[in-house]
Amino acid sequence: MDDYDVVVIGASIAGASTATLLARRGARVALVEKRPDVNAFKRICSHYIQPSAVPMLERAGFLGPITRAGGVRGHARLWTKWGWLFTPHEASRVRAGVNLRRERLDPLLRQIAADTPGVDLLLGESVEGVSADDRGTVTGAEVRNSSGRTRQLTAKLTVGADGRDSRVAELADLRPRIKPHRRFAYGAYFEGPPPTSAPDVSLWFLDPHVALAFPTDSGLTLYGCMPTQDRLPEFKADPGRALQRFVADIPDAPPIRESRMLGPVFGKLKLPNVRRGPTRPGLALVGDAAVAADPLFGVGCGWAFQESEWLADSTAAALNGEQPLQQGLDGYRDQIKRNIYPHDWLISDYATGRRMDPAEKLMFSAGAYEPGLLPALEEFATRSIDPARFLPRMLPRAMAVHARRGLTRARRPAEAVAA
Ligand SMILES: Cc1cc2nc3c(=O)[nH]c(=O)nc-3n(C[C@H](O)[C@H](O)[C@H](O)COP(=O)(O)OP(=O)(O)OC[C@H]3O[C@@H](n4cnc5c(N)ncnc54)[C@H](O)[C@@H]3O)c2cc1C
Repeated sequence: MDDYDVVVIGASIAGASTATLLARRGARVALVEKRPDVNAFKRICSHYIQPSAVPMLERAGFLGPITRAGGVRGHARLWTKWGWLFTPHEASRVRAGVNLRRERLDPLLRQIAADTPGVDLLLGESVEGVSADDRGTVTGAEVRNSSGRTRQLTAKLTVGADGRDSRVAELADLRPRIKPHRRFAYGAYFEGPPPTSAPDVSLWFLDPHVALAFPTDSGLTLYGCMPTQDRLPEFKADPGRALQRFVADIPDAPPIRESRMLGPVFGKLKLPNVRRGPTRPGLALVGDAAVAADPLFGVGCGWAFQESEWLADSTAAALNGEQPLQQGLDGYRDQIKRNIYPHDWLISDYATGRRMDPAEKLMFSAGAYEPGLLPALEEFATRSIDPARFLPRMLPRAMAVHARRGLTRARRPAEAVAA
């Protein structure tokens, strides 16, 4: 029997970050990771950390180590059929995002956690059970190591940070709400000339398909695509060639033909949007375990960081005995509902593989015609502003842009005659 304040299951972004932040507030934390290698990392991820998470990285002291490890700072540029949407850096209202390959990011965060006084990093141990008292309050977790030895870790707070297929959520009976996803993803790292827009990241909204170019550490570029399911046969035959052809054929194509692919192509064919109620008494889910959204919009890493901060801020006082834990958990749940769910709803709707709807077309096209709209569009696309604040302001402005364009066009022949 090992007694802690907090047991965190999963030592990737969400788990390592949560363990670090809570231990800094005085909690004794067991950080449990099923993979035995301290340098293990998530292999399928295009790793763009959205600007919305950058202030948190700075507050937590993670941004310095991430940039020193080679993290590349960049804003986002979106290609649409109306043109490129890009806010000049001097007009941007958001911080540049960050790209660092997961093979560097994950070990770095795990090491920061392991070096934090109060954190016990338990590698090679997998969660087997969740214990609860007779009122249903979770009181810890049972973990098993590779030689089959099990032990009980007791804690005031148990945290499931074990990813989109969360075993903790299953054991705690936090059922998933699943929304369909009808695109698939392939990507690979390339060395060669950087895209002209580097260090910014570029996304091509080919509607309904998507392609991306993310410059990252070590002079590499991640090229990827997310076509709809009907394009799968051509990719299954030869993923590497299909990826290169797909990216080479897009408008304003980046220099993928002049680049050399390094390592294997990674692919993910099933990416359902999974959301789970993030708390029950004595337990919280964080990161993908709470909300695993379509990776198309690159939100999962940033949300994992932000959620870890919200959880630590909401529960630290309770773990020090200053308030009931449930109050902290309720606060955490409300933050997720307020800050994540509205974005997740919009993201999972586009994940069905549909084309842009009239409102999206209106806003994107207006952004291409009227640069004054771009800073607000960037805030929204980088999840730095809530849809409830953004949409009621943007839609009338976008309509006004189109109305003005319509009037100008209608007037033009008469002006030409007058001239
Ligand atoms: C194709 C693709 C592209 C993506 N691109 C981006 C992007 O550009 N930007 C972005 O922000 N997000 C992206 N994401 C999403 C991002 O990868 C995830 O949101 C992010 O990894 C979530 O972090 P996490 O810590 O919650 O979970 P994970 O990174 O999945 O980590 C879970 C951890 O729990 C451990 N674990 C699992 N089960 C157990 C168990 N039973 N016991 C103990 N430990 C356990 C695992 O070994 C792992 O270390 C992408 C995802 C995909 C699939």
